[in-house]
Amino acid sequence: MFSRRKFLSKLGLTTFGIGLSGVYSSCNANDKAGPTATIDQLAKNERKAKPTIISTWYHGLPANEAGWKIIEKGGRAVDAVEQGVRVPEADPKSTSVGYGGKPDREGNVTLDACIMDEKGNCGSVCFLKNFMHPISVARKVMDESPHVMMAGIGAQEFALSKGFKKMNLLTPESKIAWEEWTTENNYKPMINVENHDTIGMLALDQSGHMAGACTTSGLAYKMHGRVGDSPIIGAGLFVDNEVGGAVATGHGEKVIETVGSFLVVELMRQGASPQEACEEAVHRIIKRNKDYQDIQIGYLAMNMKGDIGSFCIHKGFNYALYQDEKNQMVESKFYHKN
Ligand code: ASP
Repeated sequence: MFSRRKFLSKLGLTTFGIGLSGVYSSCNANDKAGPTATIDQLAKNERKAKPTIISTWYHGLPANEAGWKIIEKGGRAVDAVEQGVRVPEADPKSTSVGYGGKPDREGNVTLDACIMDEKGNCGSVCFLKNFMHPISVARKVMDESPHVMMAGIGAQEFALSKGFKKMNLLTPESKIAWEEWTTENNYKPMINVENHDTIGMLALDQSGHMAGACTTSGLAYKMHGRVGDSPIIGAGLFVDNEVGGAVATGHGEKVIETVGSFLVVELMRQGASPQEACEEAVHRIIKRNKDYQDIQIGYLAMNMKGDIGSFCIHKGFNYALYQDEKNQMVESKFYHKN
């Protein structure tokens, strides 16, 4: 756990007893560039970009491979994350993302996704049916619409107008699993090991720019119309090219309640390492939820140097890390041993 004291000392501050908003205004009386510039300057001075891709869960490995093909040629991080997460979106074996994603309790596969580029532009779709690649629809929302977020039928019409083709996303295997689930008639909107496999990806390219993407079919057997954290900018994903980025997976309602990914990035802005920031964001959720033992949340974060952090409530969250020519799985640190 990092402390407020540690934040301040990282920022070279010695004044205590002030609110965090006061940190900025009290930071250095001799700094003519102004308080915010001081912190931004710190990030810039320390920045030595190390091209890196990180993404949640095992399906992150092939996703990272696809993204890396773009990064190694000097391509943009935003193209890498879009192409990367399209891999599990198209894979029927990834049953929490795209094609083959588990449906809601009425048998509809509804998808959520968002994307952010290095300029802070964002695009998002939620409650999208019948399109295999919600991340690419989100990208079109970002690049070719005046809006940030589109939902439901409007998002479907937008996707059609941009040339995306409709298809049935419910695979025979997902249909059988859903039919078996309906016989139990046991609706519990909780995250367990079988159903928290959203892919969140962050990439740092050779120019030192960061982008992120997040895509999911959401909670398995959710209520029709339910939207989780994954398409919400600041909850499932946030990127600030001066500071770093974060993605979330797990029980989306809890992430939204604490604006989790934005929180992680803001903590990094104030001096926390990616690891410290992820731990603090998980602790916020634990503090608010006495039933945290029934909740799984995982955060994954990266700063502009390519330092990585991750933390989850229960053991079991892992992520794929592509850095220094290696693509490998890494186990996340966790709060509570099952
Ligand atoms: N966060 C996603 C949601 O709540 C689910 C997940 O990560 O598995 O929709």
